Amino acid sequence: MNTTAVAQERLVKTAIPGPKSVALQQRRLAVVSAGVASALPVFIERAHGAIVVDVDGNQFIDLGSGIGVMTIGHTDDGVVAAAQQQLELLTHAMFTITPYESYVRVCELLAEHTPGSFAKKSVLLNSGAEAVENAVKIARKFTGRSGVGVIDHAYHGRTNLTMAMTFKAMPYKLGFGPFAPDVHHAPNSYPFHDGLSGADAAARTISYLEKKVGATDLACIVVEPIQGEGGFVVPAPGYLRALQEWCTANGVVFIADEIQSGMARTGRWYASEHMDVEPDMVLTAKGIAGGLPIAAVTGRAEIMDASHPGGLGGTFAGNPVAAAAAISVFDSIASKNLLAEGARIEGVLKPALTALQAKYPVIGDVRGIGAMIAIELVQPGSHEPNAAAVASVAAYAAQHGVLLLTAGTYGNVIRFLPSLAISNELLTEALGVIDEAFATL
Ligand SMILES: *Cc1c(COP(=O)(O)O)cnc(C)c1O
Repeated sequence: MNTTAVAQERLVKTAIPGPKSVALQQRRLAVVSAGVASALPVFIERAHGAIVVDVDGNQFIDLGSGIGVMTIGHTDDGVVAAAQQQLELLTHAMFTITPYESYVRVCELLAEHTPGSFAKKSVLLNSGAEAVENAVKIARKFTGRSGVGVIDHAYHGRTNLTMAMTFKAMPYKLGFGPFAPDVHHAPNSYPFHDGLSGADAAARTISYLEKKVGATDLACIVVEPIQGEGGFVVPAPGYLRALQEWCTANGVVFIADEIQSGMARTGRWYASEHMDVEPDMVLTAKGIAGGLPIAAVTGRAEIMDASHPGGLGGTFAGNPVAAAAAISVFDSIASKNLLAEGARIEGVLKPALTALQAKYPVIGDVRGIGAMIAIELVQPGSHEPNAAAVASVAAYAAQHGVLLLTAGTYGNVIRFLPSLAISNELLTEALGVIDEAFATL
């Protein structure tokens, strides 16, 4: 049984950060690289469901889920049991030396639940960035081309290739170059700012890539169906569909980076399903295994088989404990009908945030799908970014036991990525704190 069970309630006992966090922060500053920053210097001891508990006993309503990782809730009983059981059986064999069933089972589940009814295969990896790297590698091998198209405000990771693919210089890229070549950034669809239809935004993206790169030099286009780090930018209807059609007509592999938007986050297995696209490859990571590190590239079998045997792999990739946790997450989403929770959470968040927008003109836009909702803060009466307001609201919320995540190229977006296990009561309580935070601006 789960001996760390945590009451699902908000509780602020000390100043935030409390004295134990302050002491740990001192130790941390001495030995942890300054390059690893934390949004909040509050040290977490345990968590369950939608509540995290810090070392001083404060309990926070978690609206960030470790950036959308704890989709089915912290220390989910099924995940804990599956991982514990697996730990005693086998923790490592290295699939490229001697295989084991759980790796195969995860690939079966991915083939079943990713968009598209065609034959699919997968490769398992350790992190989102590694999935992006491998997707590009495979697309290049399959097409014999090298160009990679990405769109503005994208986030794809922190490795050398994925830094090249990521939009925002600070903090992800500045001074860390030179970056991998042949990566081409094109304008995205950002309805709040560009006002373009999906068709017009896609025509702009495509024209840019055709002129700057040329279709026949492009191996792939990589897009997030809903941009995560970029601020939960939902493209205008038809945008992704038009991009995919252009890719198909031109032999360009269409890759959906669903590392943040996939695994039931939006009320479907993958956000691509809301956009009427069936990507040639889909990338999965964050929400797949209840916090254990595992990631995947899943794609059309003929593309995934383009690599020579031995071309793909990695020491820890597809680790048995992480794979067992992933199988448990897939099982829970299906057997507990967690796909319904996205609509429930959207049904609480969207109307409440829209009501706040009517009250506080600093909220310029409310957007998102399912349990992936954001507000963009502006200078009232304009579309100019207001990062200062975001910082104040997030700080007030933290002081009052609500963990909020920020996002956006201009730091002016608050993103809501609660666990699907969060109750309407906790959501409403957190929204009350956020209302107070706006009132104090
Ligand atoms: C988090 C993220 C990544 C990188 O994943 P890591 O596991 O941090 O390497 C890539 N793409 C998207 C859309 C992400 O949200």
